[in-house]
Amino acid sequence: MEKNILNNSIDRSWIDKWNKPLIISGPCSAESEKQILETAKKLKNSYVQIFRAGIWKPRTRPNNFEGIGKEGLEWLKKVKKDTGLMVATEIANAEHVRLAISFDIDVLWIGARSTASPFTIQEIADSLEGEKDKIVLVKNPIHPDLDLWIGSLERLFGKGIRKLGVIHRGFYTYKSSQYRNQPNWGMLLNFRSMLPRVPIICDPSHICGNKEGLLNIAKKAYHFFRCEGLMIESHCSPDNAWSDAAQQITPDHLMEMIKKLNVCDRKNEVDLDSLRILIDELDNNIITLLAERMNIVKKLGILKKYSKIAILQPSRWEKIMDKSLKLGRDLGISDHLLKGIFQILHEESIKIQNSILK
Ligand code: PEP
Ligand code: MN
Repeated sequence: MEKNILNNSIDRSWIDKWNKPLIISGPCSAESEKQILETAKKLKNSYVQIFRAGIWKPRTRPNNFEGIGKEGLEWLKKVKKDTGLMVATEIANAEHVRLAISFDIDVLWIGARSTASPFTIQEIADSLEGEKDKIVLVKNPIHPDLDLWIGSLERLFGKGIRKLGVIHRGFYTYKSSQYRNQPNWGMLLNFRSMLPRVPIICDPSHICGNKEGLLNIAKKAYHFFRCEGLMIESHCSPDNAWSDAAQQITPDHLMEMIKKLNVCDRKNEVDLDSLRILIDELDNNIITLLAERMNIVKKLGILKKYSKIAILQPSRWEKIMDKSLKLGRDLGISDHLLKGIFQILHEESIKIQNSILK
């Protein structure tokens, strides 16, 4: 599909009617009517426009709480009636869509695991056909595949859905990282340059996986990368939450955080500071990779010690250097830079292995 057609035909009326940022908040999971109503009533006075709660929970491992199911839809209906907030939940198959529509849920979001599956997205899109007033938000797929993300929008668009938006919730990394899911602001900038009219919402909760990092990510998202909204998980009693307890905050905490966001100071374009954030994220990744490399160097040192192999293997080192310089040239990095970096890396690796040998 022509990206221009999608971009130009997006209906932004649902988001343009609100002051920015749009705040979506509520618990990770609906647990009881009391928890839902108590949380929603408090959120009503905390700048929140849309109340979220997961009814069906896609859990990575079995035997965890997988959501309260249909019963929770009654509670969301009650939230709407009692607070006037719009309500949102995650849908992952045709049956969820059918039920959510029958309970008049205003906003449906598609979770990261579902976005990764074209069959699932097509099933959801087919079952939404004709629902032109539904707001549908698509979380980024678990892995950073921009085409897959845009492809999901195209499948929904193809069935007549126009009130679309996306949610950046970060990307899974196998290796350790300071985040639960690594943000990718550079990819967000690419997304915006391809589809500038599609609203982007950021979900700091699933990026951080903790409460402490939320404000920092919310600031980056809103001020530097101009996300139009934030989805932040909140719970009336976060420590007792049945899922994602570590990252949920109380409605009062959310209100404080939004005050600290200083929403009026927003920048109008990507500037020097935004680019510096991109550099900082990349530097963090480089350091994490270096730590991983050094761990393997240690393992090699132990193996060499017990196998009585010399620490310095000149032919192996030459091979590393040759292939690194070649890759660098393909990517436009000078021999000078790479030679310098690899020389230091090599010296450090030998030092580490020598200390193991002793
Ligand atoms: C959620 O929003 O609770 C959720 C499960 O999100 P994600 O799909 O981003 O993991
Ligand atoms: Mn969650």
